[in-house]
Amino acid sequence: MENAINRQFYLHQRPAGMPSTSDVRRRDAAIPRPRDGEVLIRNRYFSLDPAIRGWMSDTPSYLPPIPLGQAITSTTLGDVVQSRHPDCREGDVVYGLNAWEDFSAAPGSYLMKVPPENRFPLHYYLSVFGAVGMTSYFGILEAGKPRPGETVLISAAAGAVGSVAGQIAKILGCRVVGLAGTDAKCRWITDDLGFDAAINYRDCGPLTEAIAGACPEGVDVYFDNVGGAILDAALMNLKDHARIVFCGAISGYNAAEPVPGPYNWWQILARSVTVQGFLVSNHVAQFPQGVARMSEWVAAGRIRFQEQIVDGFENTLAAFLTLFDGTNTGKLIVRVVPD
Ligand code: NAP
Repeated sequence: MENAINRQFYLHQRPAGMPSTSDVRRRDAAIPRPRDGEVLIRNRYFSLDPAIRGWMSDTPSYLPPIPLGQAITSTTLGDVVQSRHPDCREGDVVYGLNAWEDFSAAPGSYLMKVPPENRFPLHYYLSVFGAVGMTSYFGILEAGKPRPGETVLISAAAGAVGSVAGQIAKILGCRVVGLAGTDAKCRWITDDLGFDAAINYRDCGPLTEAIAGACPEGVDVYFDNVGGAILDAALMNLKDHARIVFCGAISGYNAAEPVPGPYNWWQILARSVTVQGFLVSNHVAQFPQGVARMSEWVAAGRIRFQEQIVDGFENTLAAFLTLFDGTNTGKLIVRVVPD
């Protein structure tokens, strides 16, 4: 590590709209020195998540905004190369909230360890066994709570969260309908993942009618990753006592102006709907049980998923932007260090 440098992407200015290379810049920084209770991590992979866009803004949220001048906050997975925490050792593979940089210093108590007996590729701990997979798992099981035979509608259904959420709802015996932005994504979730129906929301005519056609008895659980016009169309198709899992609102993450709507909010009252704001960080203590069950499903081929692994630190920002035009296919990860 003597001559190693610490490449970083950092926040130079808050983006208005899609982040650009003027907002998020590259620099070479010093390798941080871990303090008491911290470890130094050499990051192998970055998890690119839509939420990072929110942390670049200074609107109130569940995490403080990224301060200007600081490396971009991101979940990463890497090796402990120095430890000043009693429970972490050099060589442990850990994941947690760090930053888009080669080396991160982080409190050992905030990090999760990949179990030494792990038999899966390490990057699964940023996808199906990480916060994303746990969002699908706890979002369906603890927030949506669908019963067998109920209809579950999912937006961004071919994405990292949505594709796994839909398969869990299938395991529970539900009828599952997905919304996605291309015919290829729709074919993947129906033909390969077993969704009962899919709607290409960009090419289906009026969306409210398209959802009604695919969900003729109405929707019991709407798992919303998108917000905006898709939420409005879903609201018009809810059954009495339906539940909405409000998991994300990616359609508005790059909005430069305040986002209007939802216009059909009255349906919440008219249908006695329960809306549950879902935040995966509220379930961290339950992750081991979620990962254990997900591992069984993955090993048995009952849960399938797609990862898009982009090689090279320098490609991080460009890859991140594909989340917002739908050209990403599955869980987006950057491999910083070759395997
Ligand atoms: P992802 O679905 O793998 O990728 C994002 C997808 O969103 C894109 O591929 C695109 O798919 C769709 N999209 C982008 N812009 C859109 C727009 N304007 N209108 C409609 N769809 C749009 O990403 P992910 O990591 O699984 O995240 C999905 C959602 O879950 C995000 O809202 C994220 O913030 C949320 N999330 C929440 C939690 C939590 O704890 N609450 C945790 C993790 C993630 P199409 O091609 O189908 O349009």
